[in-house]
Amino acid sequence: MKTFSLKDLQRRIEALEKELLLLRSSFEMIQDPLLLLNPKKEFLKVNPKGMELLGYPWEELSKMTFLEVIPLEENGKAIDQFEAMAEGKETLETFHLLHKDGLKIPVECFGRRKEETYFLQLKDLREKIQSMEEWERIKKQLMDKIRERDEYARELQALKDLFKEKVKEVEKMREEALLLSYTDDLTGIYNHRFLIQQLTLEVERQRRYPTALSFLMIDIDYFKHYNDINGHLAGDQVLRKIAHLLHQGVRQSDIVARYGGEEFAAILIHAEREKAREIAERIRRIIAETPFPNERQQPNQNLTVSIGIATFSPTISTVTDLIREADHALYRAKRKGRNRVEG
Ligand code: GH3
Ligand code: MG
Ligand code: MG
Repeated sequence: MKTFSLKDLQRRIEALEKELLLLRSSFEMIQDPLLLLNPKKEFLKVNPKGMELLGYPWEELSKMTFLEVIPLEENGKAIDQFEAMAEGKETLETFHLLHKDGLKIPVECFGRRKEETYFLQLKDLREKIQSMEEWERIKKQLMDKIRERDEYARELQALKDLFKEKVKEVEKMREEALLLSYTDDLTGIYNHRFLIQQLTLEVERQRRYPTALSFLMIDIDYFKHYNDINGHLAGDQVLRKIAHLLHQGVRQSDIVARYGGEEFAAILIHAEREKAREIAERIRRIIAETPFPNERQQPNQNLTVSIGIATFSPTISTVTDLIREADHALYRAKRKGRNRVEG
């Protein structure tokens, strides 16, 4: 049997003491709260972080059991964990610890039992929960912002739709206004402004792509007389009826307008002189054959029109030329007795 000298024994005690010191300081240096309990769950040892977490002085804590620092309603959970540890299992559970001041501290508890000692390593979850709460708050803010943005986008879309509708309305009104600005109030056919605009366009077209173009000036015969006998309102009715007949007398592509007063005009597209005569003669005949109220009182017992024709040619090649030429022809028709086509 090996014998130890007193010196050996002393050296071994010194070595053990050193080791113990080392263990104690590492126990104290551990950054997570560490609790050591006996089988009755009484506190055996608690590191400084654990003391800090629980807030009791050691004199008090050393007389307490672990279950006393757990809220009553969570005791069951802790007891289950101890049972699992007693069966040799490593366990992980979350519950609250009661600080001496009454503060409830959420913790995660990793536990296991080694021989007669329970080792509980705790993790303070306050920071984690705080950051989770912070995250929830940020998430909520974000969702609110998204909702706000969606709402805004919806409102914006509604405004855009309304704007589009208004633009359409304005465009429609503009078109109507444009049409009105080209329409003669009394008769509903095109007015002088539109006639000149279209005649200008047709003259330009003729210069680039010569085909044929004729222009008619149509004037009601003895209309002053008709007004004098029947009144202006009856005269207006005649103007309307004649406008309608003129419109029907020409082709779809032709343009009929009120030139002014009791004078009308027509632009005959693709119509050379002969074709224009044919159309003018047809118009004259239709009007002469159409009955008008009280027309027997007219100087020639009929309500008629005289028509002057001008046809686009190298010498009659402007809007002014065409109007002047048609006017001259109309004057000839009047001079030769009215109810005639000239030109
Ligand atoms: P002519 O056969 O030579 O054309 O004789 P006229 O009486 O038709 O010609 P004149 O130029 O002497 O008279 C035209 C008449 O047309 C005079 C005017 O009162 C009438 N008149 C012009 N515009 C209107 C209108 O908007 N409504 C009515 N009811 N009469 C109009
Ligand atoms: Mg006249
Ligand atoms: Mg007249």
